[in-house]
Amino acid sequence: MAQRKIRNSSSVGTKTSRVTLNPKVARRSFLKLSAATAALTGAAMTTRMTAKAATPAAAKAAYPDSKMVRSVCTHCAVGCGINAEVRNGVWVRQEVAQDHPVSRGGYCCKGASAIDMVTSEKRLKNPMKRVNGKWQKISWDQAMSEVAAKLTAIRENDGPDALHLNGSAKVSTEMAYLQRKFAAFWGSNNVDHQARI
Ligand code: SF4
Repeated sequence: MAQRKIRNSSSVGTKTSRVTLNPKVARRSFLKLSAATAALTGAAMTTRMTAKAATPAAAKAAYPDSKMVRSVCTHCAVGCGINAEVRNGVWVRQEVAQDHPVSRGGYCCKGASAIDMVTSEKRLKNPMKRVNGKWQKISWDQAMSEVAAKLTAIRENDGPDALHLNGSAKVSTEMAYLQRKFAAFWGSNNVDHQARI
């Protein structure tokens, strides 16, 4: 159960597995590619649509004209329940699903902050690039061009197996599926997940 995962989150064991990486791939290049991948993934999030500041009583009240939609957390295959308050097609508040047969009102930390994918002011909205130690907003065209050029160089110099794709725990299962597809078309078996490292 998800509640159990919260309590045991510090003691979750990680199974040792072997990852095949081309030793020619410099650590710096790997980190640059990881940062670019994270920027591209995060920038796909939707824009901030709502905020509700009020007294404690008002904060508990439903938004006018809102409706509660039963859904599931998309961050892993467990499928914990989410009661999503939706207003004008926008997810404005998240409630635990006490009666859900899988999660029974619990979440792990990822699910508890699932709505942050939509509303967090800290989420990425654009591709970002670190220049001289500072992050700068760049255009999609620039990001795609630079990432594509680096990937092409890696492939030409070291082969497709030199690319390692590392997934974020905060992507959805659909995003993870696309990442795995990309690796397969690229020709690399080196795909893993942040939580296993
Ligand atoms: S990631 Fe989501 S579905 Fe998976 S255990 Fe956590 S709350 Fe449940």
